[in-house]
Amino acid sequence: MSDCLFCRIANGEIPSNKVYEDDTVYAFYDIDPQAPTHILVIPKAHIASVAEITPENATVAAHIFAVISKVTKDLGLESYRVVSNIGQQAGQSVPHLHFHVLSGRDMTWPPG
Ligand code: 5GP
Ligand code: ZN
Repeated sequence: MSDCLFCRIANGEIPSNKVYEDDTVYAFYDIDPQAPTHILVIPKAHIASVAEITPENATVAAHIFAVISKVTKDLGLESYRVVSNIGQQAGQSVPHLHFHVLSGRDMTWPPG
């Protein structure tokens, strides 16, 4: 989608600090980190949120988790939190599926 921020980051139109890229997935550092390490992992194809994952597009969602597993190992992260916000009340501000990977500090539960 030409007017989607994360589509434009994934296709290189908007610069980002890349962590990982392959044919279907892109990972980059969050511009406003909420932990010493804060990465976003997204599909290159536009999917609005977890709520839009279907049997037809679920392969990329599964692949995102394989990428999270690899990238965190490559960065030496042993403990981290994976979060996806869905909808306004949960705090989603960018309507393109993304998983936050947060690491490097103590975290509380439940999240606020
Ligand atoms: P959400 O609020 O939708 O769960 O997460 C969106 C995330 O995208 C936020 O953590 C925000 O800091 C990050 N973000 C927003 N705009 C940009 C940008 O232009 N570049 C990068 N790297 N991150 C962004
Ligand atoms: Zn998009």
